[in-house]
Amino acid sequence: MVFEYAPAPESTSIVDIQTSYGLFINGKFVKSKDGKRYKTINPATEEVLSEIVLAGKKDVDAAVKAARSAYGKWSKLPGATRGKYLYRIARILQERSREFAVLESINNGKPIRESRDVDLPLVAAHFFHYAGWADKLEYAGVGPNPQSLGVAGQIIPWNFPMLMLAWKIAPALAAGNTVVLKPAETTPLTALLFAEVCQQAELPPGVVNIITGAGETGSALVNHPNINKVAFTGSTEVGRLIASSVAGTNKKVTLELGGKAANIVFDDAAIDQAVEGIINGIFFNQGHVCCAGSRLLVQESVKDELLDLLYERMQTLRVGDPLDKNTDVGAINSAAQLAKIQELAESGDTEGADRWTLKCELPEKGFWFPPTVFTNVTQAHRIAREEIFGPVLSVLTFRTPQEAIEKANNTPFGLSAGIWTEKGSRILEVANNLRAGVVWANTFNKFDATSPFGGYKESGYGREGGRVGLEAYLKSGDK
Ligand code: NAP
Ligand code: MG
Repeated sequence: MVFEYAPAPESTSIVDIQTSYGLFINGKFVKSKDGKRYKTINPATEEVLSEIVLAGKKDVDAAVKAARSAYGKWSKLPGATRGKYLYRIARILQERSREFAVLESINNGKPIRESRDVDLPLVAAHFFHYAGWADKLEYAGVGPNPQSLGVAGQIIPWNFPMLMLAWKIAPALAAGNTVVLKPAETTPLTALLFAEVCQQAELPPGVVNIITGAGETGSALVNHPNINKVAFTGSTEVGRLIASSVAGTNKKVTLELGGKAANIVFDDAAIDQAVEGIINGIFFNQGHVCCAGSRLLVQESVKDELLDLLYERMQTLRVGDPLDKNTDVGAINSAAQLAKIQELAESGDTEGADRWTLKCELPEKGFWFPPTVFTNVTQAHRIAREEIFGPVLSVLTFRTPQEAIEKANNTPFGLSAGIWTEKGSRILEVANNLRAGVVWANTFNKFDATSPFGGYKESGYGREGGRVGLEAYLKSGDK
């Protein structure tokens, strides 16, 4: 007998989406000076949600001016006072957490279970964490008398819209900087709701400015002569453009880019837990995760057993309505991202890997891709080398720890990795030899506001989170 879950839809009555939005500059929502407009949609239904500004150069300039004029006062406030604002924001985010979670799921397509239980709690935690740092900057590790940098231009992707906003804004403000943030084109709505939170917290005008738009807006922000710091999270391709356009300027840069993490399972691993870790590693957030465990490296002797268990566990994944509280895998964020996933999956077929797809009913409207596993993958296959950023797992095998390390490191990226084994000594040995910024052992996709996150090689440079995350927004006063 098969037990089916009854639908358990989350109510959307808590969110109030306006038919159109302006830009948030100098503490107010304002009309665009030279921008066009576009429509933002719900990727699960393709329903139009609102009209958004594609900010132009004059808009970017107005936002940078507002941030610059707010900077003088904000940077000179006692740290404890800046901390009070950040605590206030953190508490409001907790109070309005459900509203944010529902809106995030509507605009992004991620399951409400994740936006409610993962994204939003972490968002508040980041603001609380950096609120606590605001009056302790002399312990941040950048030397005596640390100073803020000035105006930060911050650009974020669509996969964790609010969490990426928190990673950027909380440390910048704690350190005394002011910011101009551009959310991703497809997911502007929670950032605009955050602007309301800034008003509600009575944050001084101009300290946070939110300008919506696409790549051109981002580029205008990065190239604006009057910003001091660029913080970017997104693709390696755009990261490269940004690195070259700020080269030769005095702008400080941090780049958090793509990944192709190895999730390594040894033959002595607790196999059921490893299966849970593989599922979480690649199907959490539809695989739209920079640190997703997208390459499973499994020791040859346990491959068949592990794959049988994995396929069995995958049968229980529920794919569909992001607002259903039982949903495990939601919608792909955009038609463009879906096309990219499809194209890479097809390359897996043509290059000779074997595709296994979860049988599931997909909604007719919206953008969907069923959880998929490729076996017989070689290291040369595109699906083993390129970031798919979708619910697609590539399975490779190894025989010895040395081979696992070599294969894991055989990638241009170096963001994260996972190790599954009973042996503590093996965890340490393998972790020490992996070129990855974050290595999880017997767990995966664990995030914490106190823990730094960032990559090696083409995954970028700089760290976000924890004490180290402050370094990106401070300089020593003695220099
Ligand atoms: P993306 O295309 O690089 O976009 C990231 C952001 O940059 C968006 O706001 C985008 O605007 C903007 N942008 C595009 N072109 C630009 C330009 N020439 N100058 C300045 N800004 C520009 O990346 P994505 O497809 O949105 O996000 C997926 C990527 O982000 C993946 O590669 C993933 O691994 C990476 N990521 C990394 C981390 C990390 O911490 N390392 C975390 C999350 C995601 P539009 O929205 O208009 O494109
Ligand atoms: Mg893009």
